[in-house]
Amino acid sequence: MTDGYGKPLPVPDEGSRPFFDGAAAGRLMLQRCVPCGQWMWPVAPRCIACMSGDIEWAPSAGLGTLYSFSLVHQVYHPGFAEEVPYNVAFVDLDEGVRVTTNVVGVAHQDLRVGLRLQAVFEPIAEGIFLPRFRSVA
Ligand SMILES: [Zn+2]
Repeated sequence: MTDGYGKPLPVPDEGSRPFFDGAAAGRLMLQRCVPCGQWMWPVAPRCIACMSGDIEWAPSAGLGTLYSFSLVHQVYHPGFAEEVPYNVAFVDLDEGVRVTTNVVGVAHQDLRVGLRLQAVFEPIAEGIFLPRFRSVA
């Protein structure tokens, strides 16, 4: 499914719908363990710290630090042909989880490990928003 976007589109399901609903509302939603407070990403059915199944969705502050990044030059899907090279970034959120994303609004030569970032939400299709990160420096 591409819907004019030209790239593969995520299809929210029972497990990921809170994430996508949050993104559409400008919130970066993550799972959090109710008993111990552990934040979790990616989505999991049990707490990664205490194994509890009592998991809730809660909004992240959306702030983090660039842990690492790569510039992709290879066109793995025709929908990305006009964007190469593009960055793929690993961002350590202040809640203690690492997410894979893209940094926007920063020239490739200015990407630096340790850059402070804030989530932004880009519409890619009807009702579908993807979190990306921009510099807050
Ligand atoms: Zn826990």
